[in-house]
Order: sequence, then structure tokens, then C-alpha cells
Amino acid sequence: MQPEEFRAAGHALIDWIADHRLAADQRPVLADVNPGEVRGSFPTTAPDSPVAFDELLQQLEQRVVPGLTEVQHPMHFGWFPANASLASVLGDITSSGLGNLGISWESSPALTEVEEVVCDWMRQLVGLTDAWKGTIHDTASTACVVALLVARERATALAQNQGGLQAVDAPLVVYTTSEAHSSVAKAALLAGYGWDNIQSVDIDPVTRAMVPESLAAAIEADVAAGRTPAAVVASVGTTGTTAFDPVDAIAEVIEASGRSIWLHVDAAMAGTAMLLPECRHLWQGAERSDSITWNPHKWMGTILDCSLFYVRNTGELESVMSTNPSYLQSTADGEVTQYRDWGIPLGRRFRALKLWFHLELDGIEAIRTRIRRDLDNTAWLAGEIEKVDDWTIVSPVPLQTICVRHMPDGLSGDELDEHTLRWVRNINESGAAYLTPARIDVPGLDGSWTVRISVGVENTERRHLEALWDLMRTTATSALS
Ligand SMILES: *Cc1c(COP(=O)(O)O)cnc(C)c1O
Repeated sequence: MQPEEFRAAGHALIDWIADHRLAADQRPVLADVNPGEVRGSFPTTAPDSPVAFDELLQQLEQRVVPGLTEVQHPMHFGWFPANASLASVLGDITSSGLGNLGISWESSPALTEVEEVVCDWMRQLVGLTDAWKGTIHDTASTACVVALLVARERATALAQNQGGLQAVDAPLVVYTTSEAHSSVAKAALLAGYGWDNIQSVDIDPVTRAMVPESLAAAIEADVAAGRTPAAVVASVGTTGTTAFDPVDAIAEVIEASGRSIWLHVDAAMAGTAMLLPECRHLWQGAERSDSITWNPHKWMGTILDCSLFYVRNTGELESVMSTNPSYLQSTADGEVTQYRDWGIPLGRRFRALKLWFHLELDGIEAIRTRIRRDLDNTAWLAGEIEKVDDWTIVSPVPLQTICVRHMPDGLSGDELDEHTLRWVRNINESGAAYLTPARIDVPGLDGSWTVRISVGVENTERRHLEALWDLMRTTATSALS
């Protein structure tokens, strides 16, 4: 395709995307297709002659759109928000359009230096000191792998440079809780720690946050048994209920242990809240950790993939991640950042552009206003739910996620769980809204299936929450009959 053809097709595509976004709330929230249906709408072999762009747009409409779950729909309350601000979309398109290659500073100096700039802007916007240096990863999952690899090497005095993990005698232990995101255990497994060495520290039954005294006891017991505590992953805003592990107290425990245990703060979702000074008490102590990750690609709304990863000691990262082959060495080494030495991939996209566009075009104050709106709307809905007897909020609501059950008289145990799954399925299958069921066991509360209402889609206003609350009550009541 030549630039002039691209120009015409590109204009048509932008129109198509704008129309798609405008009509997002006209489509069912959850894709209404059966497994294999999208795949089956495609020929089994690649096309052997090119089609016109109009024809491709038609195919997009016919084959792909029916298989899209509309996470930008204002009635989407599932998982966590995956906002994709159109300002950031323009930055993402720019990155693609420039077709740059980030394998070294030389391969695109601007790619590296804009990333340095936006990471530093974002650091300031969440109130971290200038002790931190950041980079952009694809996801928080990758960032956690990186953190646990560096933790592993710190705990073994760079064993990778000799026999690696295979020559280490004492098992290395990672501490987290049952509430940590599944990517934490996955990262620990990939980094070679092994299931047996992932310690699930006790949680407070009400707040579902890590109990620091239990962490201290676990570390002590492991040391006594000849194991090496290597890392703690603290969740700042867990995926189930947005619980906040007490980072300051955890840092205190690590300090008191006298060991240089790596503390990784996983704030993938809640990092966005730290844009608001009034929320920062929720991650108090983050400054004392070794690494922090959070995803602008969730609630803040910089289109996926955009996960910020901050460390205080970049030298430690480089000692683990740097390979520096001869064909990448240059005279600028030592003066510039080589982001390949801060993470796993060699080739990097120009991700900083979407964050830069987002900040310039939407503006941080509008973003903060939207986050405050979502917190207000969540508090309003939680208040309404609390007023009604047969509805229960099962855990504290520090942020924008409410975990609820409809608990009518006479239902308990498996029947209660079946009822919960029935009403949420009825809502989801109707296409009118989407909510995520999750198992959350609360001591003293019957049943374990719970429904998560995760507020925060860019276009979700109070009226959408009002509509959701009506829908929940009517659907749950009719699910009884
Ligand atoms: C969403 C989430 C993750 C995973 O994020 P990805 O960027 O999709 O890997 C990890 N931890 C927490 C707490 C999350 O909310």
C-alpha cells in the first residue's frame, strides 16, 4: 500500500471507528456469538488476491463486530475498566504509522527519550519522589515477571552468572496473598520459584488485605527452615475486591527482618486512583518498595498496552537484563537509556506516544474529574444497595468496585449460590449490562458466589448506575420464580 492509498483508506477507517464508538451503547455489551462462530465466518485459507478497502470494512463489520464484547459500553461493569481514550488511540495510531523500531537508543532516540519524559510526568502525577525511574511494559504481568527475576538474582547474588537457579541450594520464597492477581503466581512460576515456594500470607477476613504480623512470622519460619525469603508482592487494589495490602507495614516487616527482600507493589488497577492526592494514603509506604507497577490502560484510559513499571535502582535491573551484544554497542552507551536492558523484549513499540497524546489532548484535570465522578457514583450505588434489606455488600468498597449478593430469606448454601449465578447470567445474556461473578468467601456469610460491579468506563454516568440498580433488582426478583 502506498501513502496516497493509505490516506484515503485511513480517513475512511477513522470515520468508521468514530461511528463505532458513537454507537457503542446500541450493541449488546457481551458478544453474542458461539465458540468458533467468528472463526467459521472466515475462509480456511488466506486470500490469494487483494480486495478494495471498502470491501475489507464490510468484512470487518460482518465477521468481526458481532464477536466484540463492548468494554467501552457504559453498561459494562465487568472485570476492571479497560478504557481506551480516543486521544490515546490517536497516539497509538501515530506509533504504528511512524513504524519506528526501539531496539536501542540509536534505533530511534525519540522513542527512548519521550518514554523517559512521560514516565517522569506520570511519576509526579501519582506523587512519587524523583528516586524512581520508569519504563512502559505491555502489561502488569510482564512487569511482575521482571520484578521477580531481579528479586531472584538479588537473593542469589546473581546466580545467573554461574550455575543459575539450578546451583542454588536454598529454596527462594515469594510472599503474597490468596487475593493477589493470578499473574503474580504465574510470574513466580515463570521465574523459577516453584509452587511450593509461593507463600500465601494470611489476610484480614474483613479487609482481605495482607496481615503484616503473619508475613513476619512466615519470613521467620522460612529462615529457620533454611529457605531464603526473596520477594514480597503487595497488592494495592486486589482484583477481587480492591483490597489494599498495607505497604508501609510490609516494608517495616522487611526492614526488621534485616534481609534485602524485594518488595514489588502491584497497583495495576488502583494506580489510577493515586492521581488523586486524597487517595494516596491507600498506598502509603509505596515509596519504600523496590518496584511499582500500574496500568494506565485500565481505569485511566490510555489504550492497552500501557503498563508503567518503576524501580529505584536501575543498575540492579541492568545487571540482570543486559546482554549488550556487539552489534548493539555504541558510543552513546553510558549517556543514554537502553530500555532493552530494563526488561525482556529487545524490539519495543513507541508506546510513550499514546500516553503523551492522552495527557496533552484530554488533560490530567479532566481525567482526575472523571476518576472522582466514578468514586462518587460508586459511593452512591453502594449507599442505595445498603438501604435494601435483602441485598448485602460483602466487602469494603475503598475504590470503584462493589461486591454484592442478593440474599432473600429462605435461600442458603448451594441454593443461594445458584440464585446468584442465575440472576447475573440473566443480566449478562440479555446484553443490557455485564457484571462478573466471582467466588468470595466471607466468614459468617452464607454462600460464596458474589457479583462484582466494577464502575469506571469512560462513558458511564450516574444514570447508567441507576439503570443497573433497577435491572439488578428486577432480574434478581424474577430469578426467584
Ligand atoms: C489487571 C491486573 C493485573 C494484570 O494486568 P495485565 O496488565 O493485564 O497483566 C495484575 N494485577 C492486578 C492487581 C490487576 O488488577
